[in-house]
Amino acid sequence: MSEVKIPSRTYRPETRLVHSGTLRSQYGETSESLFLTQGFVYDSAEQCEARFKGEDPGFLYSRFSNPTVAMFEQRMIDLEGAEAARATATGMAAVTTAMLAPLKAGDHVVAAKALFGSCRYVVETLLPRYGIESTLVDGLDLDQWRKAMRPNTRTCFLESPTNPTLDVLDIGAIAEIAHAGGARLVVDNVFATPIWQSPLTLGADVVVYSATKHIDGQGRCLGGVILSSNDFIQEHIHTFLRQTGPAISPFNAWVLLKGLETLGVRVKAQTTSAAAIADTLAKHPKISRLIYPGRADHPQAATVKKQMRAGSTMIGFEVKGGKAAAFRTLNALKLACISNNLGDSKTIVTHPATTTHQRLAPEDRAELGISEGFIRYSTGLEHPDDLIEDLTAALDKA
Ligand SMILES: *Cc1c(COP(=O)(O)O)cnc(C)c1O
Repeated sequence: MSEVKIPSRTYRPETRLVHSGTLRSQYGETSESLFLTQGFVYDSAEQCEARFKGEDPGFLYSRFSNPTVAMFEQRMIDLEGAEAARATATGMAAVTTAMLAPLKAGDHVVAAKALFGSCRYVVETLLPRYGIESTLVDGLDLDQWRKAMRPNTRTCFLESPTNPTLDVLDIGAIAEIAHAGGARLVVDNVFATPIWQSPLTLGADVVVYSATKHIDGQGRCLGGVILSSNDFIQEHIHTFLRQTGPAISPFNAWVLLKGLETLGVRVKAQTTSAAAIADTLAKHPKISRLIYPGRADHPQAATVKKQMRAGSTMIGFEVKGGKAAAFRTLNALKLACISNNLGDSKTIVTHPATTTHQRLAPEDRAELGISEGFIRYSTGLEHPDDLIEDLTAALDKA
């Protein structure tokens, strides 16, 4: 294997997405090779010994590392501006590892309340079972973050824009509060995508992705990735992953690696369409609330401007008439699929109150702004005019 030398960081993100991290075998293939192998053979017993001691740089076993996985990790490192990364089987494996691996009983976590349902389960239910207490705050209220910090707070965790109500949290300000209290900030950057937001440059210490979403972006496979400093990955993540085993399949890493090549093109097209759809919805009489991070009427428009390079592929809106009207709208859509993925090339609509957030108590949903009429809209790659016609025709039936 030889590394294809391109001085990655000197190129713009679109170029890195196509070339970064590529390793070529002795055959000089154009497309990245898929190393569907669980292990590797050694030239000699001495080489094997050296590799186990960490003195020989080759691969050992695909639970620890694999050439195709390494290419995916390197491409993510170059895109994100991180020092190191580890890929995982799913986004939740990345989140759980980033939260659990550096902590021990007696530590404390502060997190924003508005989290993807499974992330909230990890923070609110799982960690406390192992003696790691957690406090959930209104992520938009910096005073709540400050007041929640304790001497034993080690990790702060947020997602921005939030799922599904698309609040935009001030990553730089929250990083400052975390650091002042001796804690690290972990950011779940799924909704923003690496194309529109770089949390590490805003002050975050760790970034996690569900690569299942925009990075694959074609609804094919699950995957996740944790990006941070060399020290954090070596000290906390490397051994935890190696010994507990939530490894990504080389096949999935290969799919994601090819997904990265078109990530920029897809996310830009999806965002342009989302902006046009949001403008149409804003004027629609059947809509009582519209949230789109790219519009001047977004409640945190100033924060969006400060930390994001563009709006979002995601739109949130509330249909007048509650659950019945929302369901009539979903059922009348001919093009958009009713599903629970997002960031896909196919447009996907979700009713969070009865799906991704049905586990929450009704009061908790109300507090997060997830009303019965609320719909999450993930804009795909269809022609925007077709999507607008589909949506306005469905709203006529709401
Ligand atoms: C989907 C998602 C996850 C979990 O990712 P999986 O790949 O489904 O495990 C975590 N956080 C956010 C914000 C997500 O949208």
